[in-house]
Amino acid sequence: MSINRINLLGLNLKGLETFFADMGEKRFRAAQVLQWLHHFGVDDLNAMTNISKSLRATIAEQAMIAGPEVVSDHTASDGTRKWVLRMAGGSDIETVFIPDGNRGTLCISSQVGCQLNCTFCSTARQGFNRNLSTAEIIGQVWTARRLLDQPDTRPQAVTNVVFMGMGEPLLNLSAVTDAIDIMLDDHGYGLSRRRVTVSTAGVIPAFAALRERVPVSLAVSLHAPTDELRNQLVPLNRKYPIAQLLAACKTYVAEESRQKVTFEYAMLRGINDQPSHARTLAKLLQKVPAKINLIPFNPFPDAPYQRSDDETILRFQQILITAGLITTIRRTRGDDIDAACGQLVGKVVPRQRRHNSLELRQGVHA
Ligand code: SAH
Repeated sequence: MSINRINLLGLNLKGLETFFADMGEKRFRAAQVLQWLHHFGVDDLNAMTNISKSLRATIAEQAMIAGPEVVSDHTASDGTRKWVLRMAGGSDIETVFIPDGNRGTLCISSQVGCQLNCTFCSTARQGFNRNLSTAEIIGQVWTARRLLDQPDTRPQAVTNVVFMGMGEPLLNLSAVTDAIDIMLDDHGYGLSRRRVTVSTAGVIPAFAALRERVPVSLAVSLHAPTDELRNQLVPLNRKYPIAQLLAACKTYVAEESRQKVTFEYAMLRGINDQPSHARTLAKLLQKVPAKINLIPFNPFPDAPYQRSDDETILRFQQILITAGLITTIRRTRGDDIDAACGQLVGKVVPRQRRHNSLELRQGVHA
């Protein structure tokens, strides 16, 4: 029955090995199938020519290959491309591809909506529906790769993956790490672990498990140099305050020479962008292996903040650089198609029927 069939996209190497072992099949089939699915990007069992017809038929009785439905596909004037993808249950999530020279960064979502309620993020306005499954997470990479690799266009490679779309990846650790396995697997996408970045608002208890399982690059959404201010911007800070967060960051990179944690800092006019904030931040990060990425705030309808002006951002950056901190300013990309950081909204089907502003935003992406 199709209802009970397992989606092969959601299985990492280990999962596929179990799948074949349960079938009484040889273990090496797992690597073969992983390679067909993710390295070659096929969506049809019949394309798997090194697997016998009869085995393909047996697999088809139990499993399927089901990628996400692509609801829309927009390319911004700077080449940034955004897809709205429909998940089971009718919710839409967003995935963004950001080309930059030879690099191509795919920004993926880990949840439908988000629970964290950061005050400067429009995903927060959508509420939260559920975690994405492994198949839905890796399905974003799978779909993007297939759509980027069309015969009529210059092929664009996904060289980096960042969990900076909708949701908090460390609140969906099991599905996220299984999906990362496939990104890193040589039979999958073969990305080096430094080229996969998990971005978190600071779910400290998950750091150790992430590091143990898949020690990928870590980015932390800091946005404020004091607990007082961060409590307002990132409510999760009330549970996991800055001192604990920075200690956890140090531990995360402790045995990795030259590995740094990236601290993201959205520049909000008059809120966190003053020279005094920069000086406090510099002190705070003095003993942390850190890179700072300043993100000019991206506005959305009814946002309670404004973007700091360029001069203020440059002055802020200069103070940090003078203090010896590597500090970059994130170039805003794809904002003409609402694909910039914090602008991803999708369409979250509410869990309980309650009043919300979903329909208002839907039109933007229609
Ligand atoms: N939950 C994770 C990942 C999603 S957010 C996290 O908090 O890190 C990805 C990045 O975009 C985060 O640094 C987030 O703080 C930032 N961001 C959110 N809204 C923004 C906005 N309106 N303008 C600029 N950056 C924003």
